[in-house]
Amino acid sequence: MKAFRCGDVVPGCDASFQASDEAGVLASVAAHARDDHGLTDLPADLVAAVRAGIHEVPEDGAA
Ligand SMILES: [Zn+2]
Repeated sequence: MKAFRCGDVVPGCDASFQASDEAGVLASVAAHARDDHGLTDLPADLVAAVRAGIHEVPEDGAA
């Protein structure tokens, strides 16, 4: 599983996401950014920051 904490990029945001692959995490982050942060498009540098913040978590463990 891949996981990402929005707070790693947006200080103070406690949203977190998990998916089976990076693309799934990015899709969830994009939806969250749009709905909760008002970002209709993710700038390339923000996508890069998100990718850098995505980390591996165990399938059956808590993040
Ligand atoms: Zn957020």
